[in-house]
Amino acid sequence: MSVTIETLHHHQAPAAAPPRRKLRIALLAPPWIPVPPPGYGGIEAVVAPLADELVRRGHDVTLFAAPGSRSSARVRALLDRAHPDEIGSALHEVDHVTRAFAEIDAAAELGRPFDIVHDHCGFVAFALADRLATPLVHTLHGPFTAQTSVFYEHHAHKAPVVAISRTQLESAPSGLRVAGVVPNPIDADCWPLVRHKEDYLLWVGRMTEEKGPHRAIAAARHAGMRLILAGPVQPGQEPFFEREVAPQIDGDRVTYVGEVAGERKVNLFARARALLMPIRWPEPFGMVMLEAMVCGTPVIAFPEGAARELVIDGVTGLLVDDEREMARACERLGGIDPIRCRQSVVDRCDVRCVARSYERVYLEVAAQAAHGRRAHAALGPAWSERSAHRARAAERLAAGGRPRSRLGAVQ
Ligand code: UDP
Repeated sequence: MSVTIETLHHHQAPAAAPPRRKLRIALLAPPWIPVPPPGYGGIEAVVAPLADELVRRGHDVTLFAAPGSRSSARVRALLDRAHPDEIGSALHEVDHVTRAFAEIDAAAELGRPFDIVHDHCGFVAFALADRLATPLVHTLHGPFTAQTSVFYEHHAHKAPVVAISRTQLESAPSGLRVAGVVPNPIDADCWPLVRHKEDYLLWVGRMTEEKGPHRAIAAARHAGMRLILAGPVQPGQEPFFEREVAPQIDGDRVTYVGEVAGERKVNLFARARALLMPIRWPEPFGMVMLEAMVCGTPVIAFPEGAARELVIDGVTGLLVDDEREMARACERLGGIDPIRCRQSVVDRCDVRCVARSYERVYLEVAAQAAHGRRAHAALGPAWSERSAHRARAAERLAAGGRPRSRLGAVQ
């Protein structure tokens, strides 16, 4: 069946107002996967459009990222290669972050300090943030678990954080300084609106129990609909994949297309009848939901984590409790308007809105840092040159605007 791919003007993001002042921004991406990611990549897919949009808005952006990264920002790849098979390795993260910190400090010492460091790494930069001469804000990309909550509580005083959903904050430990809630961005212009769908359901993700490819299979079988599964089998996920997923693949009712990227991925999202999200974990965001909805594809999700926030029940998808309900929900997909799906993403998560929200966060964080440094300076000669750099950078920035407090508000 042929489909019409539309890029209707009124479903595109509005042009954003220019920024109040040009900032020097250091964006710190993780060292695992290049930006933008060639295939699977959560954080990298967030950093890529944000970097480009901040540059487009006139900021001077340096992106510290894995080798192979491309961006309209100045790219600094500090390690010898990307490490997609060693995600979470302390060796590579420490190496990457401390090299980036050295460059950030050197810039300050040379009289060209960054105004702000925006950190998207796992844990290292946040834990070392108080060693840096430049204000740092850390975006929380993961859920709070028993382990990470202890970590964040202990280091909370070192840097402010940005949450990616309100739901994520519900389980935040005490003491965190929350500079805002800013959703992950998507560049709506890169995704088409497709109103006429084909007859398949889609599941896209990592092959793990929490993401639920096996539950998507059960739901599709109950519904009597074809299912396409897409996503990598990452190291360590083989036993789950072999046990729960592989035996169900028949190339007809259940097809597995492996890891997808580029136009193929976009087409899969755009033409699907619905995206299935049978998650069983407090997923803090979930980019695949945005990617589906921006193409006008409804999402049928379990009401876990940020799915409760991103999917507007009955408008951009359906929230259901289990596989049986998910199957029954497929009969109600006709009531979901693809245009409203797209509009809800454009209004809330298009990169133009998200970049503006981050600009406000940068200004607020810098102003608070300046205030803290002034108070510290009043203590006397113990005030170090390093701290003075931080204060000067922050004061310059603070002089440019009067940021408003946005705590707790999704932009
Ligand atoms: N993805 C991809 N190819 C695949 C599977 C996933 O490009 O085969 C992308 C997907 O489009 C999304 C990201 O990987 O942009 C996954 O992000 P999400 O927030 O949904 O999940 P998580 O970060 O928890 O893995």
